[in-house]
Amino acid sequence: MEDALDLGQLDRTLARQVTPGQWEKMLSCIQCGTCTASCPAAHAMDISPRKMWRMVQLGLEDEVLHSKAMWYCSLCYQCQVRCPRGIPLTDTITRLKELAIERGMAQSKESVAFYRAFNDVVRRYGHMREVEFMVRFFLLGNPLSAFGYMKLGLTLMARGKAFPELPKVGGEGRLDKLFRRVAELEAER
Ligand code: SF4
Ligand code: SF4
Repeated sequence: MEDALDLGQLDRTLARQVTPGQWEKMLSCIQCGTCTASCPAAHAMDISPRKMWRMVQLGLEDEVLHSKAMWYCSLCYQCQVRCPRGIPLTDTITRLKELAIERGMAQSKESVAFYRAFNDVVRRYGHMREVEFMVRFFLLGNPLSAFGYMKLGLTLMARGKAFPELPKVGGEGRLDKLFRRVAELEAER
């Protein structure tokens, strides 16, 4: 567990921004580590959830937004339901992501490209088409990074594990209606 935090070290600015209405709860984090122990993605994060909340308490906005940790979060809510202080941790991670996107942080661009490509393919076909997803992802993000996956792609094709599929152009996607309804519900929030 971290050393006890001196009240004078607290910086409420970031907590107020990312945990609106409940920022006092965020400042009450006791660094018990339950969030990290509950997190299925903690092993892949560059800073653990527990550390990330300490950094939020200290107002270390740049350090938190530069971290890749939030982008590994799968929004499973395990940490939020188990936090003994009742801090809305998962909801706060969503706001941290929104803040990183607003600030145009490099890590957020890759994730935004990933989500867009994933949504585009699922909306259109109702299921995943891996090759088309990869093409869309590289085009939306960094096309040059595709060269790093060339060998893997060719190996998969040679083994019959990946088949190039022509993308459908125009027309109504299979899940367009569903996606439109979700967009309407989000706009009402
Ligand atoms: S579970 Fe809650 S109180 Fe414990 S370290 Fe995580 S955020 Fe802090
Ligand atoms: S919501 Fe995110 S940070 Fe929390 S336990 Fe799940 S993956 Fe980890």
